[in-house]
Amino acid sequence: MPIVAQTEKFFPLKGWGEVLAQSVRSSDELLAALELHLENLGNGLSAARQFPVLVPRPFVERMRKGDPRDPLLLQVLPLAAEDQLAAGFTVDPLGEQSTNVETGVIHKYHGRVLLLAASGCAVNCRYCFRRHFPYNENRLGRSQWQSALEYIAQDASIAEVILSGGDPLMLQDERLAELVEQIATIPHVQRLRVHSRLPVVIVQRLTEQLTDILTRTRLRSTLVLHVNHPNELTPEHAQRLALLRQAGVTLLNQTVLLKGVNDSAEVLIELSEQLFNHHLLPYYLHVLDRVQGAQHFDVSSSEAYALYQQMLAQLPGYLVPKLVREEAGQPHKTPLHAF
Ligand code: SF4
Repeated sequence: MPIVAQTEKFFPLKGWGEVLAQSVRSSDELLAALELHLENLGNGLSAARQFPVLVPRPFVERMRKGDPRDPLLLQVLPLAAEDQLAAGFTVDPLGEQSTNVETGVIHKYHGRVLLLAASGCAVNCRYCFRRHFPYNENRLGRSQWQSALEYIAQDASIAEVILSGGDPLMLQDERLAELVEQIATIPHVQRLRVHSRLPVVIVQRLTEQLTDILTRTRLRSTLVLHVNHPNELTPEHAQRLALLRQAGVTLLNQTVLLKGVNDSAEVLIELSEQLFNHHLLPYYLHVLDRVQGAQHFDVSSSEAYALYQQMLAQLPGYLVPKLVREEAGQPHKTPLHAF
């Protein structure tokens, strides 16, 4: 039986584009769905003007009604706290604009390069380190796409291309397939990596067609999802991710450590256990990138390290993600050590 037929039998769901089109796009609508009142939470109208609300309904359905501290809600609801300026929090915390070597290309680490394949996302995460990134100057139209591929082709040290964004799975399958096929024609590129949060919030993005795109070229493919809390995962994720894994795609997860969302050993340990149950290995636990507007999510390095120690004490090593900070100008992510 073809994979799609099995999938549809398990998941008689709408297509991902249709789900995306029906997303919640205002705080009022989000709060009404959860039976909450804005005055309880601080007025985030100005924050929402700068970085709009965007939340797919399946993600809203995983939130607890009436709970203003729900860990999924806190990731997407604009708050007045975003307007406060804090020392050390900037619009470009990773210095990416200096490594933006071509339109849509970020080259900061040896051997791999980031292609900003799409400028939009399926969900607007309030802590996003690219919330101020100049996507308008980095849209990959056909001609810029060719320049980006030529940049990669001319540097034989690039063994891995990472599709990022925005969210690269916002690309329609036809365009994504064409891009992957073109990358595969560059002889020194061996690996393809896709970083995406879209399938976390809209599981229907994990289709047979996507599996085919990620496995039909000679490139070894890895899909890195971005799950921050165990409540984000569903049985549908496990079933669809199993099909990707069976097809040979390496499945990893990265998490951002966020105050009020997942800054407890209990939640982080449960997250690692659940990731494994959903066929994902924990890859990175990032401390927050210091982006302006996200300071209220910050967990100090010493608190982060204490949490990491508790994970080490209670989990097998393969379920403990690397605890890292990304620092502008450094040749790799920086592991956090004891303080
Ligand atoms: S999905 Fe990723 S890139 Fe998009 S807003 Fe969320 S964290 Fe940022």
